[in-house]
Amino acid sequence: MKTAVVIGSGPNGLAAAITMAREGWEVTVHEAADTIGGGMRSEELTLPGFTHDVCSAIHPLGRDSPLFRDLELPVAWVQPDAPTVHPLDDGTAVTTERSVHATAEQLGPDREAYERLFNRVVSGWSDFESVVLGPFLPRPNRLLHAVDFSLVRAGLSSARGLAKRFESQRARALLAGHAAHSMLPLETRPSGGVAFFLIVAAHVFGWGFPRGGSQRLADALAERLEELGGEIRVSSPVDELPRADVVLADVVPRELLRIAGDKLPSHYAHALRRYRHGPGVFKLDWALDRPIPWTAPDCKRAATVHIGGSLEEIAESERAPGHERPFVLLTQPSLFDDSRAPAGKHTAWAYCHVPAGSTEDMTDRIEGQVERFAPGFRELILARHAMGPADLERRNRNIVGGDINGGTMDLGQLFFRPVRKLVPYRTPREGLYICSSATPPGGGVHGMCGYSAALVALKDS
Ligand SMILES: Cc1cc2nc3c(=O)[nH]c(=O)nc-3n(C[C@H](O)[C@H](O)[C@H](O)COP(=O)(O)OP(=O)(O)OC[C@H]3O[C@@H](n4cnc5c(N)ncnc54)[C@H](O)[C@@H]3O)c2cc1C
Repeated sequence: MKTAVVIGSGPNGLAAAITMAREGWEVTVHEAADTIGGGMRSEELTLPGFTHDVCSAIHPLGRDSPLFRDLELPVAWVQPDAPTVHPLDDGTAVTTERSVHATAEQLGPDREAYERLFNRVVSGWSDFESVVLGPFLPRPNRLLHAVDFSLVRAGLSSARGLAKRFESQRARALLAGHAAHSMLPLETRPSGGVAFFLIVAAHVFGWGFPRGGSQRLADALAERLEELGGEIRVSSPVDELPRADVVLADVVPRELLRIAGDKLPSHYAHALRRYRHGPGVFKLDWALDRPIPWTAPDCKRAATVHIGGSLEEIAESERAPGHERPFVLLTQPSLFDDSRAPAGKHTAWAYCHVPAGSTEDMTDRIEGQVERFAPGFRELILARHAMGPADLERRNRNIVGGDINGGTMDLGQLFFRPVRKLVPYRTPREGLYICSSATPPGGGVHGMCGYSAALVALKDS
């Protein structure tokens, strides 16, 4: 039987492992940490009985990425009423709703512009999905089929550029909150494309999450792998290139160089060394006595809250990570999932962007921003847990300097990550593939990097 070793048990490592095992390969996954899941781990970070997601919390593609959908995993998905909400200083909020029309209805003069921008791709998503998410095997006919230049322009735009289509503060703020997930300045392309895609995902899939926490998705993937005969070894850091017919590395270029640098041709090692990481994050987890007392009632309808006010203010914050009034991304899963905290109590996490490797404590600034839209918030905090870039990196070597996307996702590194190659998963060393979020389609819990890399490995074998 042919053997595959997977280094790392993040969503991409497990996706690669399952893809190989489904084809009858003998698969072993080595995970450095003492629990599986990479960015899909849940722990009692604050108080007993409060379950927090250490990294990812909300999974627009966790149920519906092309691979995960196909696996029909035994995960109970929670789907909040509204995918995202963005509070404003006038005490109201703007939401993405499941329907394009219902979202557009909130946008006054931008109603038609919003529907024009999103209707076509949302209603024709099945035509576009493989172009955005893969699996990425070179199939030019499919690419040509999906080319629509107005959509390509939106997909590659900066948030500032895309926002020119809107005149209202509400529509521009809604766009900016989604664009800030890109960890790029809003003047940089494709921050608008990231917003465009995340809003499309809100309409097509919703922004759901696994009941019980992110770890449930990791556990379900691990179970599926074990059913297929695969094995996972935790507390098993890989320091040297393992022996196997195929090795799939769910690691970022820096780690691949540490493990296998001396086995790679110098031109490739040089290219990997030039791979760029983005800013870091500073993250807080809270155990709360009650739900967050938002001024805007709509803030209770979504698990994901974008805090930062106007597009101009968010743009200023994203130009200078570590800003005095940072853009804050907050999740409040326990509003929709009572398994996260003791009866009546709640959990929430929030992060803001900081310079890579920053040691600045952003607690006051993050909590100040929450207070701005939810006066009295601080009085509800029963316990808090803080992690800066170094803490995140200590837990997971892929989070270099606190970069949660596995590498900058600007135009230079969007399609050609980690190096400029038509098939970026394949390394010049026979049998060695890279399959982490440092490959297309990049960051997020969807498993599509791992799936694509494994398909390339199978095709080569
Ligand atoms: C704070 C935070 C919040 C996030 N929020 C969201 C969110 O809400 N929604 C979303 O979709 N995404 C979110 N993300 C991003 C998401 O978690 C990542 O994009 C995703 O987990 C990347 O998957 P991966 O498989 O490529 O790598 P990872 O999930 O990073 O997994 C890599 C695994 O490899 C292991 N490893 C590394 N080196 C070695 C080695 N030498 N030997 C053995 N094992 C090794 C690591 O320990 C880790 O377990 C968030 C990330 C962070 C950090």
